[in-house]
Amino acid sequence: MSAKDHIAAAVLDWFDRHGRKDLPWQTDRTPYRVWVSEIMLQQTQVNTVIPFYERFMDQFPDIAALANATEDAVLHLWTGLGYYARARNLHRCAKQVCHMHGGAFPTNLAELEALPGIGRSTAGAILSLAMEIRAPILDGNVKRVLARYHAVEGWPGQRAVVDSLWRHAEHHTPLERVADYTQAIMDLGATCCTRSRPRCLHCPLNSGCAARALSRQADFPGRKPRKQIPTRQRWLAVVTRAPGEVLLQKRPDSGIWGGLWAPPEFEEAIVAREWIAHALSLSPDACRIEPPFLHTFTHFKLEAHPVRVHCETNRAITNDVECGVQDLQWFSLHPPPSVGLPAPIVRLLAELSRETPLRSD
Ligand code: SF4
Repeated sequence: MSAKDHIAAAVLDWFDRHGRKDLPWQTDRTPYRVWVSEIMLQQTQVNTVIPFYERFMDQFPDIAALANATEDAVLHLWTGLGYYARARNLHRCAKQVCHMHGGAFPTNLAELEALPGIGRSTAGAILSLAMEIRAPILDGNVKRVLARYHAVEGWPGQRAVVDSLWRHAEHHTPLERVADYTQAIMDLGATCCTRSRPRCLHCPLNSGCAARALSRQADFPGRKPRKQIPTRQRWLAVVTRAPGEVLLQKRPDSGIWGGLWAPPEFEEAIVAREWIAHALSLSPDACRIEPPFLHTFTHFKLEAHPVRVHCETNRAITNDVECGVQDLQWFSLHPPPSVGLPAPIVRLLAELSRETPLRSD
């Protein structure tokens, strides 16, 4: 039996006995449902994804419903999942599939990969899981299994390393039962060949696994070279007004928290205070700078200082194009707005809504 046959057969046999078969996206497996699950599962664990996925499917049961939704509605359902570019691309992709492909996903890699937010692995998952078309995948779980089984040295962010893993993925993908195999190898990585403490004794690949033979499971896949990430200081103009409203700005699509709503952000405290004073006709002394909160992104840490001001009267505020402060809107804090909000801003709004002066009673 060739290595290819051995691995596919062993993984499929394991899947028949131990694989997960009742995840929400495994029932009624359509390209749309598989695609949404694959995008949500990037960087996010299955248990976290499930409630988000179910809410998303209730709201947008098919690709037309998603394409016709507003961006705010899509981002609202994504609030708390992070990596919001995924949601914006999902929305753009739904529109393209509806307008350019008549609402049906293409059935070949090249056309799928041309869609926003769909890379080679996601395209492979849509083809194999939803259409039974032979196409390899290489998500984080599969990378780990293959890197360990073949003892592929190096960090998969490097071209030569990922190319080597793709060659192994291509080689092992069987001609038959490709949907089951794809689900099986992802599950094996998620439940057996876990990042720390892999359960090698229970693994169907243990007899041929190079990392296990070398007792070097922890070395594969290789780690990303460590780099000190910088901290950016920013000041958020947190403006509230009676009887319980907060001023938010829709952020441009590019940059952090793209398309989400958050308080206007400034690079210096003095600029934030002056903008508040100017926009609300108040003295800068009316502002109070509160202790900062820290939020970590992939490439930097954000230390955000809320600059708080509360107006008792019902003040209007105008967009200030010159300062780049536009797309402003007042939102009620009771209940919080149904738009896309970054997780730290959800917490900030929850704190604001608890403050006595903001209550409408
Ligand atoms: S034997 Fe261990 S390290 Fe190798 S693939 Fe299986 S679980 Fe992973």
